[in-house]
Amino acid sequence: NSFRDLNLNDDIVKALTSLHYENPTEVQRKVIPVALEKRDLVVKSQTGSGKTAAFGIPICEMLEWEENKPQALILTPTRELAAQIKEDITNIGRYKRIKAAAIYGKQPFLHQKTELKQKTHVVVGTPGRLLDHIEKGTLALERLSFLIIDEADEMLNMGFIDQVEAIIQALPTDRVTMLFSATLPEDIENLCHQYMKNPIEIEI
Ligand code: AMP
Repeated sequence: NSFRDLNLNDDIVKALTSLHYENPTEVQRKVIPVALEKRDLVVKSQTGSGKTAAFGIPICEMLEWEENKPQALILTPTRELAAQIKEDITNIGRYKRIKAAAIYGKQPFLHQKTELKQKTHVVVGTPGRLLDHIEKGTLALERLSFLIIDEADEMLNMGFIDQVEAIIQALPTDRVTMLFSATLPEDIENLCHQYMKNPIEIEI
């Protein structure tokens, strides 16, 4: 029951130590090994369970630093959550020099466009603005191999379902998809069925 048992690289373990994450939480113990095998995942868990690091740790572990185009896309319902996840990923990936960008509405589009031209490993954002960048060709999708749909039920409650689907449809199909949600209503089950490959379901 330690991060050492999860076979993570030293630069990730070192970052977790400096964050004072001593042992993985339940969701991390269950999710990280499966994510490292690149299996699709549906995770039913609450905020506060450590779910950000449950996807943040395996993503940081698997990303290739040399690649300049985004490799992971994280969809979130709110700007605040996007900013928080960007910070968490940056902290977990600190010693691997992982670069994350937060992309959300009510911020200058041009500034984001410039930021997305720089080396970026992880893009985290809200569906509307992300779709805007996708449609304008300012978010490179061809290297994306990890998609995280966070707080899926919240995104649906906020009316983002069409935008979430449009984003998924624009992504390479050769990817790993992980969905996190506190509840799994029928429309989320449908989304999983339609866009994921034999996902493993984990309930915390
Ligand atoms: P989350 O559920 O992702 O919002 O995380 C809830 C809080 O738990 C955050 O403040 C994290 O920094 C913290 N946290 C996540 N994983 C661990 C861990 N393994 N040990 C201690 N704290 C953690």
